[in-house]
Amino acid sequence: MTKILAITNQKGGVGKTTTSVNLAASLAVSGKRVLLVDLDPQANATMGSGINKQTVKTTIYHVLMGNAEIQHVRVNSPQGKYDLIPANRDLAGAEVEMVEFSHREARLKIALENIASDYTYILIDCPPALNLLTLNGLCAAHAVMIPMQCEYYALEGLSDLVNTIKRVRNSFNSGLRIEGLLRTMFDPRNILAQQVSDQLQKHFGDKVYRTVIPRNVRLAEAPGFGLPVLYHDGQSKGAQAYLELAQEILAGHL
Ligand code: ATP
Ligand code: MG
Repeated sequence: MTKILAITNQKGGVGKTTTSVNLAASLAVSGKRVLLVDLDPQANATMGSGINKQTVKTTIYHVLMGNAEIQHVRVNSPQGKYDLIPANRDLAGAEVEMVEFSHREARLKIALENIASDYTYILIDCPPALNLLTLNGLCAAHAVMIPMQCEYYALEGLSDLVNTIKRVRNSFNSGLRIEGLLRTMFDPRNILAQQVSDQLQKHFGDKVYRTVIPRNVRLAEAPGFGLPVLYHDGQSKGAQAYLELAQEILAGHL
Protein backbone atom coordinates (compact mmCIF):
# COMPACT_ATOMS: atom_id res chain seq x y z
CA MET A 1 0.00 0.00 0.00
CA THR A 2 1.23 3.45 -0.91
CA LYS A 3 0.88 6.17 1.67
CA ILE A 4 0.54 9.71 0.36
CA LEU A 5 1.32 12.48 2.84
CA ALA A 6 0.76 16.19 2.20
CA ILE A 7 3.20 18.31 4.20
CA THR A 8 1.19 21.44 4.76
CA ASN A 9 0.97 24.64 6.75
CA GLN A 10 -0.22 27.88 5.20
CA LYS A 11 2.20 29.72 7.45
CA GLY A 12 5.51 30.39 5.73
CA GLY A 13 8.91 29.25 6.91
CA VAL A 14 7.79 26.65 9.44
CA GLY A 15 9.93 23.80 8.07
CA LYS A 16 7.68 22.17 5.44
CA THR A 17 10.40 21.86 2.82
CA THR A 18 13.11 20.91 5.31
CA THR A 19 10.80 18.18 6.58
CA SER A 20 9.84 17.01 3.07
CA VAL A 21 13.42 16.66 1.85
CA ASN A 22 14.86 15.16 5.02
CA LEU A 23 11.99 12.80 5.70
CA ALA A 24 12.17 11.62 2.06
CA ALA A 25 15.89 10.89 2.47
CA SER A 26 15.39 9.26 5.89
CA LEU A 27 12.59 6.96 4.67
CA ALA A 28 14.67 6.09 1.59
CA VAL A 29 17.69 5.13 3.69
CA SER A 30 15.39 2.74 5.56
CA GLY A 31 14.85 0.95 2.26
CA LYS A 32 11.48 2.48 1.37
CA ARG A 33 10.67 3.61 -2.15
CA VAL A 34 9.93 7.31 -1.87
CA LEU A 35 8.66 10.00 -4.23
CA LEU A 36 8.80 13.69 -3.29
CA VAL A 37 6.47 16.04 -5.15
CA ASP A 38 7.45 19.71 -5.16
CA LEU A 39 4.17 21.62 -5.27
CA ASP A 40 5.64 25.06 -4.50
CA PRO A 41 6.69 27.60 -7.20
CA GLN A 42 9.60 28.57 -4.89
CA ALA A 43 10.97 25.11 -5.81
CA ASN A 44 12.99 24.83 -2.60
CA ALA A 45 12.43 21.06 -2.38
CA THR A 46 13.75 20.74 -5.95
CA MET A 47 16.93 22.71 -5.18
CA GLY A 48 17.33 21.00 -1.79
CA SER A 49 17.22 17.65 -3.58
CA GLY A 50 20.12 18.66 -5.82
CA ILE A 51 18.09 19.43 -8.95
CA ASN A 52 18.60 22.82 -10.58
CA LYS A 53 15.25 24.59 -11.00
CA GLN A 54 16.77 26.87 -13.68
CA THR A 55 17.63 24.04 -16.02
CA VAL A 56 14.96 21.46 -15.37
CA LYS A 57 12.84 21.09 -18.52
CA THR A 58 9.59 19.46 -17.47
CA THR A 59 8.02 19.96 -14.08
CA ILE A 60 4.87 19.45 -12.03
CA TYR A 61 3.47 22.46 -13.90
CA HIS A 62 3.39 20.45 -17.15
CA VAL A 63 1.76 17.54 -15.33
CA LEU A 64 -0.99 19.72 -13.83
CA MET A 65 -1.63 21.38 -17.18
CA GLY A 66 -1.88 17.99 -18.91
CA ASN A 67 1.18 18.69 -21.08
CA ALA A 68 3.42 15.92 -19.76
CA GLU A 69 3.01 12.44 -18.31
CA ILE A 70 4.11 12.28 -14.69
CA GLN A 71 6.30 9.22 -15.33
CA HIS A 72 8.34 11.28 -17.81
CA VAL A 73 8.77 14.18 -15.40
CA ARG A 74 10.15 12.32 -12.39
CA VAL A 75 13.88 12.40 -11.80
CA ASN A 76 16.12 10.65 -9.33
CA SER A 77 17.54 12.88 -6.62
CA PRO A 78 21.30 12.55 -7.27
CA GLN A 79 22.18 11.92 -3.60
CA GLY A 80 18.96 11.37 -1.71
CA LYS A 81 18.02 7.92 -3.04
CA TYR A 82 14.45 9.03 -3.73
CA ASP A 83 12.56 10.24 -6.80
CA LEU A 84 11.39 13.80 -7.28
CA ILE A 85 8.74 15.57 -9.32
CA PRO A 86 10.47 18.94 -9.67
CA ALA A 87 8.96 22.42 -9.78
CA ASN A 88 10.05 25.85 -10.89
CA ARG A 89 8.46 29.29 -11.02
CA ASP A 90 6.20 28.29 -13.96
CA LEU A 91 4.02 26.70 -11.30
CA ALA A 92 2.95 30.14 -10.09
CA GLY A 93 0.88 30.45 -13.28
CA ALA A 94 -0.86 27.12 -12.83
CA GLU A 95 -3.42 28.45 -10.36
CA VAL A 96 -4.90 30.87 -12.85
CA GLU A 97 -4.53 28.55 -15.82
CA MET A 98 -6.22 25.63 -14.08
CA VAL A 99 -9.37 27.63 -13.39
CA GLU A 100 -10.78 26.53 -16.76
CA PHE A 101 -10.44 22.83 -15.97
CA SER A 102 -13.23 20.78 -14.50
CA HIS A 103 -12.11 18.85 -11.38
CA ARG A 104 -9.17 21.22 -11.14
CA GLU A 105 -8.64 20.20 -7.52
CA ALA A 106 -8.00 16.58 -8.52
CA ARG A 107 -5.31 17.05 -11.21
CA LEU A 108 -2.45 15.87 -8.97
CA LYS A 109 -4.45 12.98 -7.53
CA ILE A 110 -5.26 11.68 -11.02
CA ALA A 111 -1.65 12.07 -12.21
CA LEU A 112 -0.24 10.25 -9.15
CA GLU A 113 -2.51 7.25 -9.79
CA ASN A 114 -0.22 6.37 -12.72
CA ILE A 115 2.89 5.93 -10.58
CA ALA A 116 1.72 5.51 -6.98
CA SER A 117 2.27 1.74 -6.99
CA ASP A 118 6.01 2.30 -7.58
CA TYR A 119 6.34 3.80 -4.08
CA THR A 120 5.76 3.08 -0.41
CA TYR A 121 5.64 6.77 0.45
CA ILE A 122 4.75 9.84 -1.57
CA LEU A 123 5.45 13.16 0.17
CA ILE A 124 3.97 16.39 -1.19
CA ASP A 125 5.70 19.65 -0.24
CA CYS A 126 2.90 22.26 -0.30
CA PRO A 127 3.30 26.03 -0.73
CA PRO A 128 2.63 28.43 2.18
CA ALA A 129 -0.97 29.20 1.19
CA LEU A 130 -4.41 27.63 1.25
CA ASN A 131 -4.65 27.90 -2.54
CA LEU A 132 -5.51 25.63 -5.46
CA LEU A 133 -2.05 24.04 -5.41
CA THR A 134 -2.42 23.12 -1.73
CA LEU A 135 -5.96 21.91 -2.45
CA ASN A 136 -4.49 19.57 -5.08
CA GLY A 137 -2.06 18.30 -2.45
CA LEU A 138 -4.87 17.73 0.07
CA CYS A 139 -7.07 15.97 -2.49
CA ALA A 140 -4.25 13.65 -3.54
CA ALA A 141 -3.21 12.74 0.02
CA HIS A 142 -4.32 10.10 2.47
CA ALA A 143 -3.13 12.20 5.37
CA VAL A 144 -1.63 15.55 6.32
CA MET A 145 1.56 16.22 8.21
CA ILE A 146 1.68 19.69 9.76
CA PRO A 147 5.10 21.06 10.66
CA MET A 148 4.89 23.97 13.07
CA GLN A 149 7.02 26.22 15.18
CA CYS A 150 5.90 26.47 18.77
CA GLU A 151 5.09 30.18 18.74
CA TYR A 152 2.10 32.14 19.96
CA TYR A 153 0.45 32.62 16.56
CA ALA A 154 1.04 29.02 15.52
CA LEU A 155 -2.10 27.82 17.32
CA GLU A 156 -4.25 30.46 15.67
CA GLY A 157 -3.08 29.43 12.17
CA LEU A 158 -3.67 25.83 13.07
CA SER A 159 -7.43 26.28 13.51
CA ASP A 160 -7.69 27.72 9.95
CA LEU A 161 -5.80 24.73 8.63
CA VAL A 162 -7.90 22.23 10.58
CA ASN A 163 -11.06 23.89 9.20
CA THR A 164 -9.70 23.69 5.65
CA ILE A 165 -8.94 20.00 6.13
CA LYS A 166 -12.51 19.47 7.36
CA ARG A 167 -13.91 21.24 4.30
CA VAL A 168 -11.74 19.20 1.95
CA ARG A 169 -12.91 16.07 3.74
CA ASN A 170 -16.56 17.04 3.28
CA SER A 171 -16.28 18.07 -0.37
CA PHE A 172 -13.48 16.14 -2.06
CA ASN A 173 -11.55 13.61 -0.02
CA SER A 174 -13.57 11.91 2.69
CA GLY A 175 -10.66 9.75 3.87
CA LEU A 176 -8.30 12.66 4.56
CA ARG A 177 -6.96 12.66 8.09
CA ILE A 178 -4.38 14.48 10.12
CA GLU A 179 -1.40 12.16 10.38
CA GLY A 180 0.44 14.32 12.83
CA LEU A 181 1.76 17.64 14.03
CA LEU A 182 5.51 18.04 13.98
CA ARG A 183 7.28 20.48 16.27
CA THR A 184 10.11 22.06 14.27
CA MET A 185 13.02 24.39 15.04
CA PHE A 186 12.42 23.58 18.67
CA ASP A 187 14.48 25.24 21.37
CA PRO A 188 13.78 23.58 24.74
CA ARG A 189 15.27 26.56 26.62
CA ASN A 190 12.55 28.81 25.25
CA ILE A 191 9.74 28.92 27.82
CA LEU A 192 7.08 30.05 25.33
CA ALA A 193 8.01 27.16 23.03
CA GLN A 194 7.54 24.77 25.95
CA GLN A 195 4.16 26.27 26.81
CA VAL A 196 2.90 26.13 23.22
CA SER A 197 4.19 22.57 22.97
CA ASP A 198 2.28 21.61 26.14
CA GLN A 199 -0.90 23.19 24.76
CA LEU A 200 -0.50 21.32 21.50
CA GLN A 201 -0.22 18.03 23.33
CA LYS A 202 -3.25 18.88 25.44
CA HIS A 203 -5.39 19.65 22.38
CA PHE A 204 -4.10 17.11 19.91
CA GLY A 205 -2.85 14.31 22.17
CA ASP A 206 -1.14 11.51 20.28
CA LYS A 207 -1.54 13.42 17.00
CA VAL A 208 1.62 15.25 18.04
CA TYR A 209 4.69 13.28 16.95
CA ARG A 210 6.90 12.23 19.81
CA THR A 211 9.91 13.22 17.70
CA VAL A 212 10.83 16.89 18.03
CA ILE A 213 13.00 18.57 15.40
CA PRO A 214 15.53 20.84 17.13
CA ARG A 215 16.85 24.06 15.72
CA ASN A 216 20.07 22.93 14.08
CA VAL A 217 22.33 24.90 11.79
CA ARG A 218 23.25 21.82 9.72
CA LEU A 219 19.60 21.58 8.61
CA ALA A 220 19.75 25.17 7.36
CA GLU A 221 23.09 24.66 5.58
CA ALA A 222 22.31 21.43 3.75
CA PRO A 223 20.05 22.89 1.00
CA GLY A 224 22.95 25.13 -0.06
CA PHE A 225 24.76 21.95 -1.06
CA GLY A 226 21.66 20.44 -2.68
CA LEU A 227 21.77 17.68 -0.07
CA PRO A 228 19.50 16.20 2.56
CA VAL A 229 21.22 16.76 5.92
CA LEU A 230 21.92 13.02 6.17
CA TYR A 231 24.57 13.42 3.45
CA HIS A 232 25.81 16.79 4.69
CA ASP A 233 26.38 15.83 8.32
CA GLY A 234 24.80 12.52 9.23
CA GLN A 235 25.82 12.82 12.89
CA SER A 236 24.16 16.19 13.40
CA LYS A 237 21.19 16.54 15.73
CA GLY A 238 19.04 17.54 12.74
CA ALA A 239 19.91 14.41 10.75
CA GLN A 240 19.31 12.19 13.77
CA ALA A 241 15.94 13.84 14.46
CA TYR A 242 14.65 13.21 10.93
CA LEU A 243 15.85 9.59 11.09
CA GLU A 244 13.91 9.24 14.34
CA LEU A 245 10.82 10.79 12.73
CA ALA A 246 11.08 8.28 9.86
CA GLN A 247 11.19 5.44 12.38
CA GLU A 248 8.18 6.83 14.24
CA ILE A 249 6.23 7.03 10.97
CA LEU A 250 7.30 3.53 9.88
CA ALA A 251 6.20 2.14 13.24
CA GLY A 252 2.74 3.66 12.76
CA HIS A 253 2.32 2.56 9.16
CA LEU A 254 0.12 -0.49 9.30
P1 ATP B 1 7.91 28.15 2.92
O1 ATP B 1 6.63 28.40 3.63
O2 ATP B 1 8.55 29.40 2.41
O3 ATP B 1 7.80 27.08 1.89
P2 ATP B 1 8.89 26.15 4.71
O4 ATP B 1 7.73 25.99 5.63
O5 ATP B 1 9.05 25.16 3.63
O6 ATP B 1 8.91 27.62 4.08
P3 ATP B 1 11.65 25.74 5.29
O7 ATP B 1 12.05 26.34 3.98
O8 ATP B 1 11.79 24.29 5.46
O9 ATP B 1 10.18 26.19 5.63
O10 ATP B 1 12.42 26.44 6.48
C1 ATP B 1 12.49 27.86 6.60
C2 ATP B 1 13.93 28.26 6.94
O11 ATP B 1 14.29 27.73 8.20
C3 ATP B 1 14.95 27.72 5.95
O12 ATP B 1 15.97 28.66 5.81
C4 ATP B 1 15.46 26.46 6.61
O13 ATP B 1 16.77 26.13 6.22
C5 ATP B 1 15.40 26.83 8.08
N1 ATP B 1 15.13 25.68 8.93
C6 ATP B 1 14.09 24.80 8.83
N2 ATP B 1 14.11 23.90 9.82
C7 ATP B 1 15.18 24.21 10.60
C8 ATP B 1 15.74 23.67 11.81
N3 ATP B 1 15.19 22.62 12.42
N4 ATP B 1 16.84 24.27 12.32
C9 ATP B 1 17.38 25.36 11.73
N5 ATP B 1 16.91 25.91 10.60
C10 ATP B 1 15.82 25.36 10.04
MG1 MG C 1 8.79 25.38 1.56
